[in-house]
This record gives sequence, structure tokens and C-alpha cells, in this order.
Amino acid sequence: MPALLDPHAHLSEAPAAAELEALLRRAAQAGVSLVISASAKVSDWTSARRRKREYLFGNSEKIRVREAFGIHPWHARTIPPDWEPALRRALAEEDTPLIGEVGLDYGPKGLVSASKPEQRALFRRQLEIADELALPAVVHSFRAGGETLETAGNFKRIPCILFHGYLEPVPRAKMEERFFFSFSPREIGIGRRKGREAVRRLAEIAPEQILAESDYPAGGQEPAGILRTAEQLRELGARPQTAAERFLAAAGGRTSGK
Ligand SMILES: [Zn+2]
Repeated sequence: MPALLDPHAHLSEAPAAAELEALLRRAAQAGVSLVISASAKVSDWTSARRRKREYLFGNSEKIRVREAFGIHPWHARTIPPDWEPALRRALAEEDTPLIGEVGLDYGPKGLVSASKPEQRALFRRQLEIADELALPAVVHSFRAGGETLETAGNFKRIPCILFHGYLEPVPRAKMEERFFFSFSPREIGIGRRKGREAVRRLAEIAPEQILAESDYPAGGQEPAGILRTAEQLRELGARPQTAAERFLAAAGGRTSGK
């Protein structure tokens, strides 16, 4: 069986270390070999730095964790003045870091946290760092039209960009091979018409750029459930396993659990 990837989870939000271990054990037993965990606020960076990067269960079940560090637009207003050196330090300690989750959120929750100009400035600065260090990025986008995609597209040294839960239009002319789109049960589950339509629309132009994600805990699923989500995406025309392999090839670093 090919290695399975969960490209978007928030492991810092697991309630306690024992529960995190149990969750990762279930994921490893389901065949998931790598989780990309986004620490999307400054206080999460500390717990992420304490977390193990590889978990072994018994003799054979093994799962790796790859860390992303960034500031989500929901947390844009509460950042300390020294966030940038702190972010650079966290990134420098990792073998294969990503930037994320960063982005724009012009829905009510995002705009309560920070105005559009504040969000734009923070998003751009973090993309500049990703560009400078040639790191992959994980991007959040809500009610921002094509702005996230267009902004990120300007940073050409970023090797690949994962737009997660992306329900917004993608103009064909703006699509790039290094763009990937990941969906959780929250978007494509039963009754989520808007999510299924977004996946179908995207699958017409990019079946090999669409991945399944858990978005644990918000996505309504653990990393162990990724197989089922991938199956739902396949039914909608996507090719999530191929997409995951392509994403990891572009994102660099070790790609298998071996
Ligand atoms: Zn997220």
C-alpha cells in the first residue's frame, strides 16, 4: 500500500499528550505515514517544538510528523512584536519545515481579528519569508475571492502551496502546477453542496492537485479517517493519492515513513 499523507492537521490542539499518541497510533494503524501539522498561532509553536517528529508503535507501525509554523489570520491581531525572529528560529530548528497556516479570512471571524490591510500585510510578510527560504506554504482562504491565490502566485521561489478547504473560484489562467488543494469532511461531507461543487469544479482542471486532509480537530475527522475522505474525493473526479505524492515530491524532504 502506498504511503498515506494527511497534509493538514493541528496537532497542537490535541487535548493532551496521551490523547495525541492515541490519535497518531490510530492513524498509523490506518496506514497514514506522515502528518503535516500546522501550528498557526505563536503559542502553538512551543508545543510543536516539544513534539516528537516520529512515533513508533510496536515493531512496524510508524508515523512521522512534519511541522508548519505560521500565523493564521484569526490570530493576526494578538501577535507579539518579535513574532518574526521567533518564527525564523522555529523554522531553523526543523529539517523539513513548512510555513503555515497563513492566509486571508474576510468572513466575520477573520475580520474581528484583523482588518483586511492588517491581514494582507501579515500574509505577504510570511510569504516573503517562505520565498526567501524556499519553503512550502499552507494557505487558508475564506471569502477572499481569488486574492490569496493571486498573492501567493507572485512568490515564485515557494516550491508548492497547499490551499486548504478552498471553496473559492480558481481562474484557469491563474492555476499553477505547484498549487494543491486539500479538503476535509467539513467541505465534502454529506449535505455540503458548496464543498462538493468546489471539488468538482477544481477536478475539471486539476484532478492530480486535489488531496484529502483531516483538518483535525476542526474538520470533523482524525488523520486516521483520511482514506474515507480520499475515497469521497475520487468519486468527485479527483486523484488524491497521486496529488499527495506530487505534493511531497515538490515539498522536498523525506517522503516515506521508511
Ligand atoms: Zn487549518
